Amino acid sequence: MSQPPPQPLESYQWPPSNERIAEAVGLDPRRIIRFDGNVPPAPPASARPAVIASALADVNEYDRGRYEPLRVAIAARHGLSLDHVALGAGSDEFIVLVARVFAAGGTIATVPTRSYSMYRYAAAMAGATLIDDVAAADLVFVCRPNNPTGELPDVPDVRGQLVIDEAYADYAGVDALDRLADGAIVLRTFSKAFGLAGARVGYALAQPDRIAVLSSRQAPLSVSSLSAALALAALANPPDVSAQIAERERLTRALDELGLRPVASHANFVFVPMAEPQALVDALLPHGMVLRAFAGGLRISVRDEVDDDALLAALAHVVRGDPLAPPGVRHRRATAETRIVVRLRLAGEGRVLVQTGEGFYDHMLQQLAFHAGLDLRVDGVGDPETGEHHTVEDTMRAFGEAFDEALGDRRGFARYGEARVPMDEALAHAVVDLSGRATANLHIKPDPGMAAHALESLVQTARITLHVTATGTNAHHVAEAAFKAVGRALAQALVRDGNLVRSTKGSL
Ligand code: PMP
Repeated sequence: MSQPPPQPLESYQWPPSNERIAEAVGLDPRRIIRFDGNVPPAPPASARPAVIASALADVNEYDRGRYEPLRVAIAARHGLSLDHVALGAGSDEFIVLVARVFAAGGTIATVPTRSYSMYRYAAAMAGATLIDDVAAADLVFVCRPNNPTGELPDVPDVRGQLVIDEAYADYAGVDALDRLADGAIVLRTFSKAFGLAGARVGYALAQPDRIAVLSSRQAPLSVSSLSAALALAALANPPDVSAQIAERERLTRALDELGLRPVASHANFVFVPMAEPQALVDALLPHGMVLRAFAGGLRISVRDEVDDDALLAALAHVVRGDPLAPPGVRHRRATAETRIVVRLRLAGEGRVLVQTGEGFYDHMLQQLAFHAGLDLRVDGVGDPETGEHHTVEDTMRAFGEAFDEALGDRRGFARYGEARVPMDEALAHAVVDLSGRATANLHIKPDPGMAAHALESLVQTARITLHVTATGTNAHHVAEAAFKAVGRALAQALVRDGNLVRSTKGSL
């Protein structure tokens, strides 16, 4: 008889997957929006198959240099030398490690007292006791900015080992690297501002003696070569967090107007103090919105305008009974060449933003969507080294797929539309039928390159019939007139017109 295993410890509680939540509340998993992870709404543009191609070609090998280029780039980012950096599988690896190394069987304090739950679990793993007395503890975690409150605590002077967890420091714009000289350890991660949580890469910064101690107690190479390649590519193009910060402030103001009063945040989430946060979390779940309750408040990760507006609408509905519009379509198309995310509402207000890096065709799709009266947001990343073709084609295909989904069984639409649109010397004529059959009859002359192919791609996935004749002398004008005309024609076809499927067949 072998010995019985030891009792499991209380450990980090992962919230359920989108699929599980969707199943529990009876929604399509694609409708689930996570406001509980404190991660950006999309990966960085650098996270593309091409950047891991060379790591894949060597994936049978260990990286004998222990990712030296990545450690060099991290050191350079912080103005340090290579021996000040250790890599780990997320900063969580170091939270567990520092507790074991500096507080085994001893004491740990956190600043502030209400902070990231991993410190508690790490203390348990190290057989350490959590105490309130910061001055007396063997190890002090300072969470700066703090999770879950977003506040920026002062760094205290301590007797024990100081560990400053700067997982969200990019959003605060301040760091405590000046404390390294006194022996502090600073923890950083690629999971938050860099948008690589799934890659699991974190690092510790400290004086070489402490880095040597930490490295000697890690499993060899806990970071994978694929993750290291993603982190290195992300560092070459560090994130601009200004949009996230502006969005955090907008969300804060909007929550305030709803009577939910967040505390000032220095991170990519906001904390709303309240007595019964779980009740609100439970009320939002059937709308697909996943938030996280803590003792004394609700934490909301900042995403982007479209997702945050969906949350605000659901909150207004739950908190004060405002009517709730039907949700828009969320659609993602990801291949080895491109990654395109589409959010679409047919009955929109012309709020359009298309950003794939192919500026001209982004502009064309924006024209189409605006003149069709849609709300459309497309975020995409392609493989520009191969030219514009894949990105433009996949963007239009993804938009068409979302459009097809938004049409549902195509009941209640006028179905047909026609428009003529000039642009200076160019003139375009478009006729559209939400037929359910993909037919394109396109004469665009001169074509700036991909105008006809882009529309043809849309036709195929949207399953519409489209006739376009566009002529002129300036190819940009001709294309723009064509896309606008298609938009105007679609606006007519999308007019709500009773509850019939406009076909004597009874289906489209
Ligand atoms: N520190 C804090 C304060 C966090 O909120 C998190 C993630 N929830 C982490 C560290 C760990 O991040 P990772 O292991 O992904 O680097």
